[in-house]
Amino acid sequence: MTVLLPELVLGPDARVRERVAVEVVAGRITRLLDARDASEDALALPGRLLVPGLVNAHSHAFQRALRGRVERVDPEHPFDDFWTWREEMFAAATALDPDSVRRTSEACFREARAAGYTTVGEFHYIHHQPDGTQYDEPNELAHAVCDAARAAGIRLVLLQTAYARAGRGLPPSPGQRRFCDASVDAYLARVDALRESVAGDPLITVGYAPHSVRALPRDWLEAIARHAAGSGLPVHVHADEQPREIDESLAEHGLRPIALLDACGLLGPKTTIIHATHADDDELDLLAERGASVCACPTTEANLGDGFLPAARLWARGVPVAFGADSNTRLDPFEEARETEGLARRQAGRRNVLVRAGEDGPARSLWECLTVNGARALGLETAEIAVGAPADLVALDLDHPEISDVPVEHLPAAVLFSGSSALVRESWVAGTRP
Ligand SMILES: [Zn+2]
Repeated sequence: MTVLLPELVLGPDARVRERVAVEVVAGRITRLLDARDASEDALALPGRLLVPGLVNAHSHAFQRALRGRVERVDPEHPFDDFWTWREEMFAAATALDPDSVRRTSEACFREARAAGYTTVGEFHYIHHQPDGTQYDEPNELAHAVCDAARAAGIRLVLLQTAYARAGRGLPPSPGQRRFCDASVDAYLARVDALRESVAGDPLITVGYAPHSVRALPRDWLEAIARHAAGSGLPVHVHADEQPREIDESLAEHGLRPIALLDACGLLGPKTTIIHATHADDDELDLLAERGASVCACPTTEANLGDGFLPAARLWARGVPVAFGADSNTRLDPFEEARETEGLARRQAGRRNVLVRAGEDGPARSLWECLTVNGARALGLETAEIAVGAPADLVALDLDHPEISDVPVEHLPAAVLFSGSSALVRESWVAGTRP
């Protein structure tokens, strides 16, 4: 048993409480006590605000290797956009082997952990050798990612990705071969095998990740939907990130991507749409009707020139939004939250936009995006400081210049609007510090 005695605690209602001790037994929060009742061997954390561990719901760890390298114009491709960036990303993916997948993933997860993320949803799509040949162990690279998460001490949901083609009627390009399985059954068998191999590991679970409607034909989407139904596992899909993807989906299926996913049976409460940047109102209505989530990745969407999250329209419909660091260009959860509200303000031409009825500002819902919505998107129990919740916790430095002198009642908003990952001091995953 451990008892943490921080100066302040952020409660599930995003209000700060004083004189609360947090008891942890076997990786879970078992009691919230009055600090005066805490035993003498409690771990005192003066000058700390204890907050729930933050959830990075969408990551491609290896893309961290693109930092800096992609921030220049290639004279051969003067019009630089998502699609030219993707060629650089494919080149980085082609160069990886099992050892470098483990090393780059571990470096990313360690940095994420230091930035306050205690859980990562790794959307893992590099599966086979560069020419597409399977390794002797078909899940070799997924196991390398799992080993990296264990070494970094971060909770992992490995979202095993299905990928089949470059586009309608097109075989995979050379840079895409190692992402692709020979058949949807081969892919589903790898999901089952991976799930079996991590069963019993309390910090690793698995989910389905049909990559996108551009990377998969309709029969694959339908087969994955059938397999996922009743499994209880999360399903993550990139959709509506780029206008070209929508045009191609309309040309191939007569449906926009989110409408197609619904027609294939893939849209439900376990589903998370990554980006949804260019979703129209009908698609957003569908997400709300099906109880699906959206994962926004604002720092990456900015870096790639993807566009704007339709945040105000998502909030108006009550669609749960989680955040992801995606390309891991930046690992700062508070920046993702600030960017989301900031973009909504720029679009609306006013302040305090993402405010739900009965609330006086956006802070509470943005904290939910970083915590409980991320957990929900990844099929995890919850991410809050409450009895019964996993003891995934982060201690922020109240004396840091970014938030020093902020009155207690304003701290939840100040951390989001004025703070950064530099506030993070200690963190625990299932009650354990690295
Ligand atoms: Zn992604």
